[in-house]
Amino acid sequence: MKVSVDRDLCYGSAECVHRAPEVFAFVDGFGVVRPGRDQTGEDPEILEAVEKCPSQAISITEAPRSAPDRP
Ligand code: SF4
Repeated sequence: MKVSVDRDLCYGSAECVHRAPEVFAFVDGFGVVRPGRDQTGEDPEILEAVEKCPSQAISITEAPRSAPDRP
């Protein structure tokens, strides 16, 4: 899974940082995904951060699959 924050929606409540500090940081008044931490499994703390974000700014999407090998 890939986690991201839409900065246009984020209003800086810091809920995500409080709930999953190893993945989210607070920078310039916004929640951001820490560098290199955007790929994740189904971590309950991250899912809770998504659920509790008051502006629904956090998205989780499936990581792109690698293309199949061609013969
Ligand atoms: S919880 Fe949502 S609104 Fe609050 S800082 Fe994180 S992304 Fe922004």
